[in-house]
Amino acid sequence: MTSNKNDQPKPDLNTLAVWAGEENKDFWQRSTQVPVVHSVSYGYKDLDTWYEVATGNETGHIYSRNTNPTVDAFEEKVRQLEGAEACTSFATGMAAISNTLFALLSPGDRVVSVKDTYGGTNEVFTKFLPRLNINVTLCDTTDHEMIEQEVAKGCKVLYLETPTNPTLKVVDLERLITAGHAVGATVVVDNTFATPINTNPVQFGADLVVHSATKFMGGHADALGGVICGSKDLVQEVFHYREITGATLHPMSAYMLLRGLKTLGLRVERQNDNALKIARFLKGHPFVKDVLYPGLESHLHHEIAKKQMRGFGGVLSIILNGDFESVKTFLPRLNYAHLAANLGTVETVAGPPRTTSHVEVTPEQRAALGIPESLIRYSVGIECVDDLIADLSQALDYTSGKLK
Ligand SMILES: *Cc1c(COP(=O)(O)O)cnc(C)c1O
Repeated sequence: MTSNKNDQPKPDLNTLAVWAGEENKDFWQRSTQVPVVHSVSYGYKDLDTWYEVATGNETGHIYSRNTNPTVDAFEEKVRQLEGAEACTSFATGMAAISNTLFALLSPGDRVVSVKDTYGGTNEVFTKFLPRLNINVTLCDTTDHEMIEQEVAKGCKVLYLETPTNPTLKVVDLERLITAGHAVGATVVVDNTFATPINTNPVQFGADLVVHSATKFMGGHADALGGVICGSKDLVQEVFHYREITGATLHPMSAYMLLRGLKTLGLRVERQNDNALKIARFLKGHPFVKDVLYPGLESHLHHEIAKKQMRGFGGVLSIILNGDFESVKTFLPRLNYAHLAANLGTVETVAGPPRTTSHVEVTPEQRAALGIPESLIRYSVGIECVDDLIADLSQALDYTSGKLK
């Protein structure tokens, strides 16, 4: 776990992405890059120093399940990008989310969240928390009044995610965080889709921000990881739980994520631009029934998105003017998209919810969540947008031609 030490004026996010966590460090043999420290333990010449480090009176490391120098550098970079007091990391995004919820909640407590959370998070809410006699209320994500009413009844944790997967709903962070704080709730926000480049939930009062670092942060689909940022006390509480559950981020993964983060600003700014251009192109296409993207003026939550997002993100959803058969024809026609269950990477990735975000869910449940069978989640990469538009265009023409 890392936390801030000095309060200098905050540099631009692109500068932080490159330098944060890597300044003034005594790296191995003066290497300019953070070394990957695979060592499990750290040796001491005298028992007094060892004891001071072990009891937290002096900085240092004891055992890598708890802390590790490479992992520390990664956490410090994320902490500064989110503008938070403290940060700790996990083996995966789901480890971050589940450890946070299990650390904060006890039998008899109540959680309020929304129906559109990430599939794994939704499983924690519907399966594992109720088993511990924790009361979970999942609200309609678009109904801010209902969320406020449920929160007002009292809750220990208010858990939010924005934009949501795959329907790209945006919740009003300032409004709902205020509602949560009015009843003393800890407000947790999954900021994976927005990234720290587009939104910093801490600015709106979020107590804890979680990320699947696997997605945009790493950006290259070659390392799993999770992270939480927030106040020192809360992060410490979850960090202690994670020390014991052992859901620790591997140093090699920390290194890959650290390297990915250096280009986070470049990548996300490009992905924001690409996604908006693609959304506008698709919006006018006869074979496209609808495009879900918070950057479009027609999006249900465009005004909220404008208020809390600097860019609208790299993920959009396309609803074809057809059925699931048309999706099966369309997707394999794309030249520049992995058909895979991932997002936020330098390459474009596309897939339907039934094989990605909502694989465990029945067609009836997907319909109840407002996810049509002809919806495709399209995570825009950093390719030249003209090539992506040409690719989508030919695949749409081919698919609509086949159906005639
Ligand atoms: C992928 C994802 C997660 C889970 O992250 P893993 O690293 O796969 O465990 C959580 N929340 C959101 C929004 C995600 O997209």
